[in-house]
Order: sequence, then C-alpha cells, then structure tokens
Amino acid sequence: MAEGGLVIGLVEMGPRVPELEEIRRRLARHLEKYLGPVEVRHFREDLPEYAYSEIRGQYLARALLDRLSKVDGDCHRVVGLTREDLYAPGLNFVFGQARVNGREAVVSVARLLDEDRERYLSRVVKEVTHELGHTFGLGHCDDPSCVMSFSNTVLDVDRKSPDFCDRCALALREGLNRCLRR
Ligand SMILES: [Zn+2]
Ligand SMILES: [Zn+2]
Repeated sequence: MAEGGLVIGLVEMGPRVPELEEIRRRLARHLEKYLGPVEVRHFREDLPEYAYSEIRGQYLARALLDRLSKVDGDCHRVVGLTREDLYAPGLNFVFGQARVNGREAVVSVARLLDEDRERYLSRVVKEVTHELGHTFGLGHCDDPSCVMSFSNTVLDVDRKSPDFCDRCALALREGLNRCLRR
C-alpha cells in the first residue's frame, strides 16, 4: 500500500491482456525506484466502438485516452493496456500515447508480444514507463539507452533500458512533486 504515495490505475481495455498480474507487480517494483511508494490498481474497461477504424483494423489511441479520462478510482495516473493495435493520425501505428502533463496514457501490447515471456514483459514495462514519463512532462530523450528515447520499432524497444537517464530522472522527480502537491 502506498501511504501518501502515487496511485496508478492500470486499466485492462478490451480482451484480456496476457500476464496482466505479473505486469502490475513488475511495474510497481520498477516505478518505485523513481517515484517512491507506488500502488498500481487493476481496473477493466470496454474498448469504445467509436474508436475503431474498420479500414485500418486499429483503434485510435486518442479516443482511448478520452475513455480513460472517465475512469475514476482516485488515481494520480491512469494507464490503459490493450491487446488491440493503436494508431494516431499520420502514423501507421503507435506503441502507446500519453497526455503530456496529463493523467492518461495508453499502451498496446499488440506489437510487444513475444514467445519469450521475459522479453514480452520487459517490453511492456518499458513502454508503460515511457508513456508515464510523458504524463510527468518528459519529452523524448537523445540518449538511446534511456527509456524516454523514441522507439520506431520493437527492436528499438529491446535496445533501450527500462531506466531513465539522470537528466530524465531529475525531470521526472520534478513532475512527480508537482503532481503530489496538487
Ligand atoms: Zn514517446
Ligand atoms: Zn533520458
């Protein structure tokens, strides 16, 4: 239990996400290194039909963020996790999307799935950590090993670490302080 700490809602959207409970545990453990006491709560939510593009066979990431803004549950941050593939206008796909300095983020595991369970889990932790970084005001980082570096492909995801570089870790702490003061 995160006494006075950060509460993150992890919202399973649509079909069951493999290994969700393990993801929840790993995320809490990983984020505590940077954010202090963290509680990650599990929620479930339907995928909004209007967010689906028949032509693309994908969901519009921004529309999922809108749906997540209706999730209450007293959370500082709300992260959607879905098996469905996501897109943003002008892009073939996105691994995730977040509201910069906002409350909501969403990550798709569709392109992160792997036969190697460990690899899959570590990819998901990296992408959720990345999108959460955006919600604390962080932009993309030039350091290719930093979790805030931009990933074009899943190879980029595998290449980067789950950790924030020193500069991003500092900026994250400032963002966290702003968030907890509110
Ligand atoms: Zn990003
Ligand atoms: Zn960085």
